[in-house]
Amino acid sequence: MARRLEGKIVIATHNRGKLREMQELLAPYGVEAVSAGDLGLPEPDETGMTFAENAALKAHAAAKAAGLPALADDSGLCVVALDGAPGIFSARWAGPGKDFAHAMRRVEEELARRGATEAEARRAHFVSALVVAWPDGHEELFEGRVFGTLVWPPRGDRGFGYDPMFQPDGHARTFGEMTGDEKHGWGQGEGLSHRARAFSKLAAACLRKDTAAR
Ligand code: IMP
Repeated sequence: MARRLEGKIVIATHNRGKLREMQELLAPYGVEAVSAGDLGLPEPDETGMTFAENAALKAHAAAKAAGLPALADDSGLCVVALDGAPGIFSARWAGPGKDFAHAMRRVEEELARRGATEAEARRAHFVSALVVAWPDGHEELFEGRVFGTLVWPPRGDRGFGYDPMFQPDGHARTFGEMTGDEKHGWGQGEGLSHRARAFSKLAAACLRKDTAAR
């Protein structure tokens, strides 16, 4: 049985976009979220070899430093023909300028080099690992995945990161062409996006359902 998450928690991120998304997700459950950035906590190096390891590094560092439960996520795009790249290096492929047009072009160039032009050679999935850590060292891990195909040229200007080149299975539009609600797939069972699927598992295990509005 997973440990319940209540009261005040730290979101182990210095990224305002991630913080806002997490605050929105947690608000219906009566959980108050502050960010590691706002508390002035340092950002640990992401030295793990997996999404789960990196999420755990961030969550434990924030929980220990703040003396509160902490939630961290680590996510990325894994391309089958590229042996799982960019994977845990998804953010780094965009360079210091966070240029995702460049990162998507790089993915496309690597696919072209391997002759991956047919849809079945262009399979990919997004992964989201969410870790909740408590100051006493306890942790809970939840992972979500969404499978799909990479298109070229990219389509749509919504979302972020690699969204415009990722077309989830069973859909005719890329994540870049969907609204946030469509991308997350709220109201459709486990959700659609990797983050929504991981969060649905976390909510079922750790959040109080009686106060949930969703
Ligand atoms: P993180 O901050 O280390 O978790 O980096 C995650 C990176 O993976 C982001 O900067 C994006 O490049 C990519 N990524 C993760 N989730 C998504 C998504 O939902 N859409 C598009 N790109 C994503």
